[in-house]
Amino acid sequence: MSAHTLEYFYLFAAVCFILALKGLSSPKTARLGNLIGAFGGVVAIVATLFLNGLQHRVPMIIAIVVGTIIGVPAARSVKMTAIPQMVAMFNGVGGAAAALVAIGEFARHGESDPARIAAAVVFSALVGSVSFTGSLVTFAKLQELMTGRPITFPGQQYVGIALVTAIIGLAVSVITTGSSVLLVVLTLLALVLGVMFVLPVGGADVPVVISLLNAFTGLTVAASGYVLDNTLLIIAGTLVGASGTVLTRLMADAMGRPLTGILFGAVTGGSTAGSTTEITGGSVRSASAEDIAILLAYARKVVIVPGYGLAVAQAQHTLRELVDLLESKGVEVSYAIHPVAGRMPGHMNVLLAEANVPYESLKEMDEINPELSRTDVALVVGANDVVNPAARDLPGSPIYGMPILDVDQAQNVVFLKRSMRPGFAGIDNVLLYNPKTTLLFGDAKDSLTAVIAAVKTA
Ligand code: NDP
Repeated sequence: MSAHTLEYFYLFAAVCFILALKGLSSPKTARLGNLIGAFGGVVAIVATLFLNGLQHRVPMIIAIVVGTIIGVPAARSVKMTAIPQMVAMFNGVGGAAAALVAIGEFARHGESDPARIAAAVVFSALVGSVSFTGSLVTFAKLQELMTGRPITFPGQQYVGIALVTAIIGLAVSVITTGSSVLLVVLTLLALVLGVMFVLPVGGADVPVVISLLNAFTGLTVAASGYVLDNTLLIIAGTLVGASGTVLTRLMADAMGRPLTGILFGAVTGGSTAGSTTEITGGSVRSASAEDIAILLAYARKVVIVPGYGLAVAQAQHTLRELVDLLESKGVEVSYAIHPVAGRMPGHMNVLLAEANVPYESLKEMDEINPELSRTDVALVVGANDVVNPAARDLPGSPIYGMPILDVDQAQNVVFLKRSMRPGFAGIDNVLLYNPKTTLLFGDAKDSLTAVIAAVKTA
């Protein structure tokens, strides 16, 4: 196939990628959107393999086969709660691959004509390397291979500033001299910068950084596309860069934290989520499944607040069963969805969609909050930080400023959780000690099963 014909396939793939993003913007069409994007990717890869004069076809096919053998089982077997770290890993190697491609291209042609591609190569090597090591550190933090707490050391800002200054100096030298050796030094420093960038970020903020690094990888791919003169890489990379940036902003807003605070809070002395553990103490009221069943069965209006623990317990189907049962008894039930409940954007929507919960029953935070004061029971299933009043009432708390679901406004609050352990942000929740709160301790699935049995006989 000629290079000219290949452009038509690339155009088709680019349209698929745009339709994919459109599809992903709603839970109803997300699956289809994903398939359209994947189809576009396959068309682009297969068409490229038929390009006239393409060299190294065999190693390319071997690389595709090896990648598929690793990627498909990894993606199929990963637990939904571990998807952020899998995204981090895939994203990191994507950034590294794009950077390596640009560096390889520079080694081949750059020194003879540095002005044409050097700036794009430097950008790709720098941002791709930061994305690679940054993603590895986020993976290690989320996989608990290292502490999730912010890691800081004296003089950290100065080391960071020195590193960035050296990189800028090297970038200018590479662009003016076309030196491959200096490019390699720059790349090594950028790998260190990636580690330095993520170390001070606290556990609960790590998913936001993953999204930011994802945007970085997109931009790296776009720059490599420019180096290779490949329009599809430019388009795909720009789409990832732009959508990743928008997602990062949305997540930071949903957590009520400026992005600069998330990235540099620990270094500059501000707070970063996950940095402190406060123990309030006090007594809590726990009850049996039968008590909770009576409370629910005789309520007029119940609001369910799903959180990370629902995903851990894989209790979405059991929850749906309880809701169906309550509705059959005339109770009005809705689900309150906090934008950062769980560990990734849309986590609760995906989880509840698995249990075929109708989208109309899902209410976003702004919609449900005014209804909570008219709610008889707020049933909090494996959620904690997203209902913690400290975010609203306690200046200085690591989560202060994060918009929350005001479940403390409901007449009764029931928490299903296993222990008094805190949520992701590592801080105690005063609502657990509130006189109107009742706790049912245990795995969410077991507790819900027991409550269902008790509601049936209530
Ligand atoms: P949290 O992490 O605050 O709380 C989870 C709760 O689930 C804990 O109280 C835990 O208590 C309980 N739990 C865990 N396993 C089980 C189980 N098997 N059965 C019953 N309960 C269980 O979750 P939230 O969803 O409330 O908050 C999400 C957090 O993640 C926020 O801090 C948010 O900022 C952060 N975050 C989310 C992002 C997103 O995009 N969704 C992005 C970035 C950060 P126990 O151990 O006692 O059972």
